[in-house]
This record gives sequence, C-alpha cells and structure tokens, in this order.
Amino acid sequence: MQDQSPKKPPFGFATRTIHAGARPDPTTGARTQPIYQTTSFVFEDSESAAAYFNLQEYGNTYSRIMNPTVAAFEERLANLEGGAGSVAFASGLAAQAAVFVTILEPGDHVIASSALYGGTVTQLKHLFRKLSVELSFVNPDDPGAWRGAIKANTKALFAETIGNPGGNVLDIESVAAIAHDAGAPLIIDNTFATAALCRPFEFGADVVVYSATKFIGGHGTSLGGAVVDKGDFDWSNGRYPVIANASPAYHGLKFHETFGTYGLLMKLRTETLRDLGAALSPFNAFLLALGVETLPLRMRQHVYNANEVANWLARHPQVSRVSYPGLATSPYAALVKKYLPQGAGAVFCFDLAGGRTAGTQFIAALELFSHLANVGDAKSLVIHPATTTHRQLSDSELAAAGIGPGTIRLSMGLEDAADLISDLDQSLRRLS
Ligand SMILES: *Cc1c(COP(=O)(O)O)cnc(C)c1O
Repeated sequence: MQDQSPKKPPFGFATRTIHAGARPDPTTGARTQPIYQTTSFVFEDSESAAAYFNLQEYGNTYSRIMNPTVAAFEERLANLEGGAGSVAFASGLAAQAAVFVTILEPGDHVIASSALYGGTVTQLKHLFRKLSVELSFVNPDDPGAWRGAIKANTKALFAETIGNPGGNVLDIESVAAIAHDAGAPLIIDNTFATAALCRPFEFGADVVVYSATKFIGGHGTSLGGAVVDKGDFDWSNGRYPVIANASPAYHGLKFHETFGTYGLLMKLRTETLRDLGAALSPFNAFLLALGVETLPLRMRQHVYNANEVANWLARHPQVSRVSYPGLATSPYAALVKKYLPQGAGAVFCFDLAGGRTAGTQFIAALELFSHLANVGDAKSLVIHPATTTHRQLSDSELAAAGIGPGTIRLSMGLEDAADLISDLDQSLRRLS
C-alpha cells in the first residue's frame, strides 16, 4: 500500500522499487524478503481462523489465496503503479483471464484493441465465446472507433500501452474518457512500458494488468502476472451487479460496499484466485520482486539500446520499415512525448525488403540474439511473429496488428549496443 502520510513526501520511483513491500523479516531479521515456501499457515486459535475465512481479519491461510512472499511482490508493484493494491497470478494471461472473469457476466460486451499480444487475442476470442461475452476489436489509434463500438452492454475497454508487436502507442486519456462516458473501466496491459516508463492510472486508466514474465522479472527466469487496481472505479454505478450485489460465491458478501477501494481486489483474490487456482509461486514472486529492484536501471539501458538499434536499422538499405515508436519519424512521436517521455520501450518490429525468405535467413544467421518466444529479457531476443507468436491470427488480423510476412520482432536486451548492431550487421550482409 502506498504511504499516504501527509508529513512525509512520497519517495522517488527508484527508492520505491527497492523498499516498497520490503521490511526486515519480523522473526529472523532477514533483510531480503524470505521465500515462504509453504502451502499453509498455522492459525493462532479457532476464532482467528474463523475471522480469516469470514474476511473480518486479513491473514494468511493457504498459499493459493495469499502468501507473504507473494504479498511483498504485490505491494511493490501496486506502489510503483500508483494503485490501491494488486493481486498476483501465475502468468500474465492468468491475470487477464481473472480480471475479466471477475467483472463480466454472460451477455456483456468488451471492446479491445486489434493490436494486442497474439496470446491475448486468442484468449479473448475463445474465452469470451465460451462465457457468452461479446467482443469487438477496434483500431486502437482511432478514438472514433472506440466510441463507435460502445453498446449498452459494454463493460470494459482493453488495450496495451505499447502494442505488441506493432508498437502503436495508445492515447490513454482519450480512450479512458470514452470508457468513463459509457460507465465502463479502461483496462490497460502495461507489460511493454512498465511503471518505469508509463503509469496509466495518471492518465485515467482504472485497472492495469501485467505479464511480469517480461521486463518486471527482467531475466527470463519466471512466469508471473498481476492485476493492479487504482481503486476508485464506481462498481456501484448500476452496471456491475456481479461486484455490487450480494455474492453467492462468498456467503452473500457485497464486495464493493464492504471493502470500497479494495472491493475489486478482494473479489479477485478471495473468489477468482481461490476458484481458478492460478496462484503465483513464492519462489517466482521472490525472483520477480528482485527484478523490480533494478527496473529503472534496466529500462534505461533497454531504451538506450532500442534507440541505437532502431535508428541504425532505419538507415539500412535492406530494411523497408522500422516500427519503433521512439523514432523521431514515428507517427506516434507526439503520443510518446506525452505518455512515454523516458522512452518507448525496447520491443519493436522491422521489415526486411526481402520478405519472408530473407526474414528466416536473417534470424538463422544471428549469433548474439536468441531466437525464442519471449520479450523483456536481459538478453536480446528475436522472433518471426507471423509464424510463431501471432500464428493463430488470420491475414486480416495480422494486418490489423501491423504484422507482415517478413516482419521481425526484436526485444532489445542489456548488452552493449555496438555488439548488437555488429551482430545485426553481419547477418544482414549475408543476405546480399
Ligand atoms: C507475454 C505477454 C502476455 C502474456 O503473459 P504470460 O506471462 O506469458 O502469460 C500478455 N501481454 C503481453 C503484452 C505480453 O507480452
């Protein structure tokens, strides 16, 4: 939780990456957050056991629902994002599924950006079909398209801060205003920017979801995800009986009325996480929280390398297009200035003039870049989206996501930029 004390000015971002959620272990004095590798916790007595299960007291019962190591990570992430709190999950997709399952009912409608991580597109299309939730994809760059897609049953708007992999930057403020006019929350996937580069709550977003697997952990070691709630969306506006009314899944509890700011978070934890069971492991939470301690440092170097490499590629005769939003020539330059003044992230695509064949040869000849399906690692990564991460998409969906047959996605790591450029250079030379 954020320190709301009026006497003390809030600490700076870097200080909070290290100290938020961290206090010496009360039993042992251990300074680093211990890994509480336990399934369950002994109750002091029968009364406190009952109070925990009644949610009259907040305490550890079973690690599917909460765990002190996971809680330290949740507190740190919520603090950095400027949210009321967060609930961690076993992966980014688990976090997204959880938030939708919590707020939606059959017959509801969701509007999503058409430029999303491929796994998210697949998840939304098929999960929503099974839940009888309607889904509309819109061009995220066109506020008119968002507004035009609003229906009486629209219950959420969803987009990424920086689209994967097309690099479109969302005008969060405009889309949040459209959502709020419709009495719906704007949910933002902030995986590519992280709170180090953009904090969507400052621009009107209501809920932020993360794949912590990527830049948050930062070293490609652990899957994880989280939902961070700003805590001030009015779930009692008459449109979310599933949150405002007595819940049959928790002996008639009214989550919004009982917990106010923490209503959505409590429902996410004590019902959705309880029922879906996609809990983050204490060990992964430990690694993810450790990763956060170097997040600002890492993001600075990720962004520096992305700028160096994108500008070098943009000048290369064999490269037909570079879609890094951080380029001065990017159509998103004005949005980057507003939403991402410290850099437009470190994942971007480019197209080789030689198309698909050139793309495959190019990837095979790289030596320093690892060919794999991940982003946000200390190591630089490369992939061909059309045949891998976005393989389930149709041609028109690929086009809407800004992916061509020869598009290559890079995730810039933390190596020396000169070494990355020389690896790209040797591979491009072999093509000619
Ligand atoms: C990877 C990713 C996800 C899914 O996260 P997992 O941790 O792999 O489940 C969601 N959104 C974005 C933008 C991603 O890059």
